[in-house]
Amino acid sequence: MGKRLSVVVSVYNEEAVLEQFYRETSRVLGGVAWDYELLFVNDGSRDGSLPVLKRLAQQDGRVKIVSFSRNFGHEAAMIAGIDYSSGDVIICMDADLQHPPECIPEILRKFEEGCQVVSMVRTKNRSAGLIKNLTSAAFYNLINALSDVHFENNASDFFAVSRQVAEVLKKSYRERVRFLRGYVQNVGFQRATIEYEARPRAAGESKYSIRKLFQFSVNTIVCFSNLPLKLGIYAGLGAGLLGLIVLVYTLLTRQGAPSGYATIVVLICFMFAVLFLIVGIIGEYIAILFTELKDRPIYIVERTENLDEV
Ligand code: UDP
Ligand code: MG
Repeated sequence: MGKRLSVVVSVYNEEAVLEQFYRETSRVLGGVAWDYELLFVNDGSRDGSLPVLKRLAQQDGRVKIVSFSRNFGHEAAMIAGIDYSSGDVIICMDADLQHPPECIPEILRKFEEGCQVVSMVRTKNRSAGLIKNLTSAAFYNLINALSDVHFENNASDFFAVSRQVAEVLKKSYRERVRFLRGYVQNVGFQRATIEYEARPRAAGESKYSIRKLFQFSVNTIVCFSNLPLKLGIYAGLGAGLLGLIVLVYTLLTRQGAPSGYATIVVLICFMFAVLFLIVGIIGEYIAILFTELKDRPIYIVERTENLDEV
């Protein structure tokens, strides 16, 4: 009957929560008037996640599995899920039940009202520490200041798109270094946001370390802003201005060469610091250019379950 829903779930070493996730989500999905598929993307889990998924897929034909040959990361898993999904609406969510399945009926209502993109915005994240919350706020402020597209603060990897938007994400936006929820917020179309309260992880532990998050933030800034590349121009202008001031000062005071060894050392250190920083920033852009140029696959599928060939 009628419309079909695909729920895409990325799974990396989640054996402890999968059963519970399946039970709770199926219960919610059983109560909505949509046909559905539960598409699990196994992102190279090294624990017992895959056997658990296979068992679920045997019991329930609506459970589908795409299994990667190794770990490709959360973003790659979501992209694969969108690629393999067949629903009219696709909801991406985490397997750890931090994204409450109870929100699904509300999301579907938005689509029935004609929305094409629904972003879920978390109001509270109980399990993330103060540091994670603060750095996340700082990150969103920075990227919004640097980039000409707008990012919702606290937008999560919990979102839903229509088939039309999914096709856009499938055909375009195939960058190697990417920020999927950034694209989702900036493809346009009629968009709605729903607030939700993130729950603590049901079991298992977080796979995102602070270091990974930092790399992720740098990549996002590089992907969405060219402003850091232009820092060199401002630094050059600043240095030129400084030189001019020193020149005028020297001429006016008729001191000849200004004495002061310390001044020279401090200035040299300062200038080199700026220079190296800018070289480093250019390096980040070149690294990403290089990655794009190599054009390696975003993910490699080893096997699928309950899915026809795509
Ligand atoms: N995940 C993934 N690949 C990875 C890391 C994480 O597919 O390399 C999945 C993970 O199984 C979970 C979701 O991405 O479903 C979010 O990860 P996690 O809960 O560890 O992140 P946090 O919620 O702590 O930010
Ligand atoms: Mg989580």
